[in-house]
Amino acid sequence: MAILAAYPDLACFPRDFETLNVWGISEDILCAGKDEVIDWLKELFSEVAELFPGRYVHLGGDEAPKQRWQNCPHCQARIKKQGLAGEEALQKMMDVTTGALFLVALVNPGFTDVYEVIFGETEPEPEYIYLYNVLHQMGYPANVEVMTRNYQIPLEMQLGILRSSYDFTPKLEQRLMEHLAASGRLVERENGAWVKRTYKDGMIWYQKD
Ligand SMILES: [Zn+2]
Repeated sequence: MAILAAYPDLACFPRDFETLNVWGISEDILCAGKDEVIDWLKELFSEVAELFPGRYVHLGGDEAPKQRWQNCPHCQARIKKQGLAGEEALQKMMDVTTGALFLVALVNPGFTDVYEVIFGETEPEPEYIYLYNVLHQMGYPANVEVMTRNYQIPLEMQLGILRSSYDFTPKLEQRLMEHLAASGRLVERENGAWVKRTYKDGMIWYQKD
């Protein structure tokens, strides 16, 4: 929103935007169909790359609602012209980063059993395999490595995360606690209970010689 407030023409539907001053996710995002957005991003990344000494720049993008893109003639024209939206997005990233790509995609949040047992949800196929395959199909022989992170977070924090996404009835909460205890996931500490989690990230990278 901050970008769109300064450069409204980069939106799918330009209007007067205001920078968000509350936490949240905006439905107004950069238009993926306009060439000037790609040019603008290239300029932005060049400036950012000069500011920081690191070799990599991390970009988010997971919390981008697609409503505008679905209704935008520029975005829809791009999708239609190029075929598959996922490949097109990768192609644009290759262009923007001039031949180097480093993607981190979720493999497993380490809570699949909880979502299955308590909420009856099954995890979709991890998308890192899809991204990896698409890169190869595009002629970029990428490398992939799965990294595992073991960590613990306070039980209260974990419950807070779940409560924000699910209707957490006391019965459900009791079932969750039983499941966490039975699967050896609870750790008692001086300052209360903590939950053990194992998170897996898929690192996909490609570097043009
Ligand atoms: Zn658009």
